[in-house]
Amino acid sequence: MANAVLIHPSVDNGIAPARKDFSGGTLSCHCKKDPVTVTVASQTAHNHVCGCTKCWKPKGAVFSMVAVVPRAKVKVATGKKKIKVVDENAVIKRHACSKCGVHMYGRIDKKKHPFYGLDFVHTELSAATGWSPPEFAAFVSSIIESGYEPKNMGDVRARLREIGLEPYDCLSPPLMDAIATHIAASAKKKKKKK
Ligand SMILES: [Zn+2]
Ligand SMILES: [Zn+2]
Repeated sequence: MANAVLIHPSVDNGIAPARKDFSGGTLSCHCKKDPVTVTVASQTAHNHVCGCTKCWKPKGAVFSMVAVVPRAKVKVATGKKKIKVVDENAVIKRHACSKCGVHMYGRIDKKKHPFYGLDFVHTELSAATGWSPPEFAAFVSSIIESGYEPKNMGDVRARLREIGLEPYDCLSPPLMDAIATHIAASAKKKKKKK
């Protein structure tokens, strides 16, 4: 039964559309007292659900939901002292609340990385409506690494398609193309230097 498969609370009961002229909101961690808050002064892009083991997921969710936004638009408003980087060795440095564990934003410091300049955010942490909706499902096969039954993957992919999120086992083709374009361009630059 494909419709019994839960993906993420923000998509399981229908996906809210983006609002025209939407210009951002405030993300709050789950702490009742002195939450970490982060202002995002822009609409997000490339929102998607992600099956990888690194992205933060709300309790019980199989997938995370994550979008990107220019890093200049992301500012910690309150609770800066509570923020800790989950894994300093990861390419995406996920800045999380050390109390409740919610990831507030992910940042890439490597200047040569294709996604340098973009921060990763979970817009479900904002009470505002009108954020860009998820467009696809990334790293679907990776949910097995988190303990999902391999034999149920057909149902998961069917459910994702049903709600309009094409499942991919890496990123979507446009994003994979963007990465490859970046790599090709930097390879060309290197050749020129020689
Ligand atoms: Zn917190
Ligand atoms: Zn992920």
